[in-house]
Amino acid sequence: MSKQAMREETERLVREALERKTVAIKQGKTRIEAKCGKCGAPNRLAAEKNAVRVKFTCKECGQAQQSL
Ligand SMILES: [Zn+2]
Repeated sequence: MSKQAMREETERLVREALERKTVAIKQGKTRIEAKCGKCGAPNRLAAEKNAVRVKFTCKECGQAQQSL
């Protein structure tokens, strides 16, 4: 196997792994609505299905916090 072929093979494997990961994340995530504790703006978050608390930064005021 040439160096070029080895590099292409490695890139292909990485790409496939990333694609699998992306699919897994999509399937395991859910969308939740969280209200900012500082300004009250609604923020839509992507969270793990079983996540209780999700860290997020308010899109309106930039306050970093956790959803309840
Ligand atoms: Zn806010």
